[in-house]
Amino acid sequence: MTKAKGTCVKPYPPRPPDPGQEHNSNLDIRAMLSLAEFFVWIVGVGVVVCYNLPVGGATSLPDPDAWASSNLDLEAAPGALRPAADEKRSAFRAYRLTASTFLVVEVHDAYGERPFMYVKHVPDAGTLLLLDTGCGGAQAAADGTAPGLRAFLETVGVEDNGGRPLNEGGRLRYVVALSHCHYDHILGVEQFARDSPVIQSAYAPSFVAREYLPAHSLCERLGIRTPTYMPTLLKHRQPVLSASGQPLGVILLQTPGHTPDELALWDEEEQMLYVGDTLYEWEPIIFPEAGNIRTWLNTIDKLTALVKAARRPELVLINCGHRTAMRPALEVLQTTKQFMMDVLLGKEHPQNRTKRDGVDFVEYRQQGGRYSLRCPESLIGQARLAVFCTSTT
Ligand SMILES: [Zn+2]
Repeated sequence: MTKAKGTCVKPYPPRPPDPGQEHNSNLDIRAMLSLAEFFVWIVGVGVVVCYNLPVGGATSLPDPDAWASSNLDLEAAPGALRPAADEKRSAFRAYRLTASTFLVVEVHDAYGERPFMYVKHVPDAGTLLLLDTGCGGAQAAADGTAPGLRAFLETVGVEDNGGRPLNEGGRLRYVVALSHCHYDHILGVEQFARDSPVIQSAYAPSFVAREYLPAHSLCERLGIRTPTYMPTLLKHRQPVLSASGQPLGVILLQTPGHTPDELALWDEEEQMLYVGDTLYEWEPIIFPEAGNIRTWLNTIDKLTALVKAARRPELVLINCGHRTAMRPALEVLQTTKQFMMDVLLGKEHPQNRTKRDGVDFVEYRQQGGRYSLRCPESLIGQARLAVFCTSTT
């Protein structure tokens, strides 16, 4: 059941250039990363070809085929091909992306979602900022075979972190941001909500209200219990703060479209953009009935403007809720939008139609499979009306 949501988007001015500031350290990091990417890519491909990755039940990458074809940049993350031995029994893998930030992939979950989470260490604030909680390791934790997400962060050594857990002994406090309320991003939130702030977008408060969360999280549809937590709702461009009020180096962007509560985080210092499920490559971008493609297009335009206004737009990297991380933000944003426009213009044709709970879903798939879309068919018609039939009076 779609809840009626406003299609307006609040003003989203591009960040003005800041020529007065020195950002040498960041530029150095990016330059070093580029060199490292090239070098480790060569080495990484050789390792993949020659050794075919470690064998057995503990896979070293969540989806080697996809990563090999689409995420070569991510493979370049130091240690990405060398998971620590004590990670192998876990439902999670962690890879360093920047000086402060790790990607955590839930490689074994009950729903086959394999969500991406991001962990930013902010030492000055004694805090780990966690974007999303995935399925929380619920399956493995329930089996008693592996730790849940919080236990992973506090007890499992990560090779890219010198073999130490990302939050050894739980010494750092947490702030948890939820990119949106779908189950594959919130099922681990209760592990943190008892003692940590949980933040969400304030764009559509009713969408994440307690009474609607079972439906909007899709937990109800799956027949699973909806997590309980009390979020703090943040405005557009509001800085994310620690529990004690210290800045964590990112601002929240309200990015409705995929869902009304979708948010992004912008790390200006590291030139990293985190967009949740607004888009990703190599798997269908799935809009629920509460999605809005016209609003999504507005969001893509505004994220594009944000990136273009960055110090070095070509160096901004985009990181998504599934499959895609460490990819050039501008190119990904522009090509995703082009795919969506091709769908609306009829240049892409439906590949599949299904009915679920009485709703007709349609799927489009770009040749080569980089982008695909699955959504209620009604959203396509609504978007065509909104995009091509807008009054000019
Ligand atoms: Zn997701």
